[in-house]
Amino acid sequence: MAPGNESLTDLQKDIFTKISKNEVCELKTLLALNKVKMDFVDENGMSPLQHACYKGNVEIVQMLLDQGADVNACQHEHAYTALHFAALSGNADLCHLLMSHGARLTAMNSVGRTAAQMAAFVGNHNCVATINNFIPKADIDFYIKPQGLLMEPMLPSHLADYFHKFIMQVNVNPVRVTINLQKFPALLENATKVQKVLESMRYREMTRGAETNEVMAFKYHYLSCVVVEVLKCQRRQEAMKAEKNEKSNEESEEKKSDTVELLIRRFLKCSKNDGLPEYQEAFLRESVREFPFRESTIFRQMVATLASRDPPSAVSVISAAINGQRGFSDNTQICVTCGEDKAIKKCSKCKAVQYCDRECQRLHWFMHKKACARLGQSSNNGKSVDVDKEQITNIVGSKLQNLAVK
Ligand SMILES: [Zn+2]
Ligand SMILES: [Zn+2]
Repeated sequence: MAPGNESLTDLQKDIFTKISKNEVCELKTLLALNKVKMDFVDENGMSPLQHACYKGNVEIVQMLLDQGADVNACQHEHAYTALHFAALSGNADLCHLLMSHGARLTAMNSVGRTAAQMAAFVGNHNCVATINNFIPKADIDFYIKPQGLLMEPMLPSHLADYFHKFIMQVNVNPVRVTINLQKFPALLENATKVQKVLESMRYREMTRGAETNEVMAFKYHYLSCVVVEVLKCQRRQEAMKAEKNEKSNEESEEKKSDTVELLIRRFLKCSKNDGLPEYQEAFLRESVREFPFRESTIFRQMVATLASRDPPSAVSVISAAINGQRGFSDNTQICVTCGEDKAIKKCSKCKAVQYCDRECQRLHWFMHKKACARLGQSSNNGKSVDVDKEQITNIVGSKLQNLAVK
């Protein structure tokens, strides 16, 4: 049974108070001045770490972990772990932090729910996706050591961190996956090796017996398809260049990133008639078809959905298969280039489309150029400006009136 609040020292009580008020600096000073073991709990059996997780405060959680707080310690009356509280807080970065410190994903609370299930229950889809896409670093260690008769590992060890990040990405939009590859040139340079490792991981996920994970197997398969596509693109580009008989090697190094950009444009290009990205759609459907485990539930479900009359876009089918169905997708905040959530930057000219950043805007410009002028005219014409002016005048007017009354 958890001890009552009375049994806590003043210092311990003080720590709880500072956490509940999110007083980062004050807590830092307090911890610097006192040597405290972080294993005490309040009257509900909640540890300081669990309180900080419930608050969703990454900074404080990091501080407590640095102090040696045990990420899996659990005396809570309803068996909620730190990860359960983080999942409830809605902070996906916090969930990631705990998992990279060894938080157990399968720990269940007193009603038999895991952290991911609790997050889904309260609609924190980012947390659900982050938890479900988490891969322990140990899974990759296997590939950075030579296995069996091989002289060298399948994956050069300096790629381990990049590769780990690459496979944990939650947004599986092919444009985002390609941009991420471009961000890690080392991965791009070793694309063939990366692809072989992904294939091997796909196989491992399907042969884990009771722990077989179809979803992760499909994810690895899908990422490998994107890498293959990049490789194909590079080869095509090189063949074209060989034909043209181009000279210097320096130029070809530069062209590698151009190749990736070419592929991104191909993914983004929409047909004139219905505005659908045809190439992307065809590529994604082909990726699904090529999944070698035809008996799996995930394969059957995706094929059935894609074959239905009036099917949803392949990108939404694949995202849903990997990350689960989203309850209420809020399309107003999605990057038109890469499908990233919470894209808050608007095209300054038309204000009709949103992007994550300048890079996404730049990549999309060749498609958006024409539409921008059109959209800009309809939203920025004289009328709307007048309304704004009128509103401002009214607001200022009423404020002035308020002042006058006083
Ligand atoms: Zn974007
Ligand atoms: Zn625009």
